[in-house]
Amino acid sequence: MTGLPLSVGQEFQVRLNVALNNVLYHLELEEMRGNPAEPPEPSAKCVQGRGDPCGRPGNRGSVPALVTPRLNHMTNNNYIDLHTHSTVSDGVYSPTELLRRAREVGLRVLALTDHDTTGGLEEAAQAAAAQDIDFIPGIEINTDVSGGEVHVLGYFPDYQQPTFQSVLKILRDARERRGQRMVELLNEHGITVAWERVRELAQGAVGRPHVAKALLEAGYVQTMGEAFDKYIGTGGFAYVPRYRLTPDDAVRLIASVNGLPVIAHPIELPGLATLRDWLPGLCEVGMAGLETYYGPYTREQEQALRALANEYHLIPTGGTDFHGPGIHLTPLGGRHVPPESVERLKAEAAKRRGKTPPTFELPPPVQEK
Ligand SMILES: [Zn+2]
Ligand SMILES: [Zn+2]
Repeated sequence: MTGLPLSVGQEFQVRLNVALNNVLYHLELEEMRGNPAEPPEPSAKCVQGRGDPCGRPGNRGSVPALVTPRLNHMTNNNYIDLHTHSTVSDGVYSPTELLRRAREVGLRVLALTDHDTTGGLEEAAQAAAAQDIDFIPGIEINTDVSGGEVHVLGYFPDYQQPTFQSVLKILRDARERRGQRMVELLNEHGITVAWERVRELAQGAVGRPHVAKALLEAGYVQTMGEAFDKYIGTGGFAYVPRYRLTPDDAVRLIASVNGLPVIAHPIELPGLATLRDWLPGLCEVGMAGLETYYGPYTREQEQALRALANEYHLIPTGGTDFHGPGIHLTPLGGRHVPPESVERLKAEAAKRRGKTPPTFELPPPVQEK
């Protein structure tokens, strides 16, 4: 998808956006560098085991109140988006088209963070170079906790590392293979449900509800619940366990390739109270940031997250989670993210690159209730 050529008027608007944002970006960057705040004291909660796992001494000078009223009241000062998706996972635009649109809205820095895949990063990096946009390679890894999912973003991973790629492939394939195996087991027991039909029902990532729906359609059960009770729930003969990563696993996985793990949209799940319990442990295994300037978050939510990030010496990051027009409420580049986020991510990435990363082992499949 390359998009239509721009009219003269549109091209002028794009150039204006780019030029204006370029100026604003550097202004804000200068202000940030010129006004270093007092370094915060290391949190007692953070100091565990070996030293101060989430302390970032090299970065502590850059935690000031960064968004000055002078810049903040201006409407066109969004030049950073660190959370976006492309067609390589579940977004609407190809990486090239995404970058073209990023330039159109005047972005200076963009990170592509597709779910469980780095397949779009090469294309995006090339497109970013063509659009004169500073590109940050990223990923978003889905993990499970009781009651829902927690997403962990990863910035600057050494993503070409073969072991990392094979783990990602296992994660991507796990859902599909699991669905397929359940259908095989059903078929072996004379229950004729077609795998093609299950895939049709899913229209994307296959889950047990799609198998249940197929069973319902074929008349083997009267309700979805019955499908779980009789066949595909724990104890059912067609039950297959699956890979289930915890947030801790995802942080370790990203850290194992020198990436910077960041908890995505933390307000939804686990929620701030739970997050507080988890942070010391997550910091211990390499957590680097907390998504703070997230698309729809209110000022109060942003402030609460900033305070939490400061307390644990985590980098506050942000973005829109753009998947395509109208999918999330915030448009591409529709949230102000201060340059501090980018500066600190880059500094931390450089620091980690110089060290031997911790190793990662994929946990065995866990029985799912
Ligand atoms: Zn997410
Ligand atoms: Zn996302």
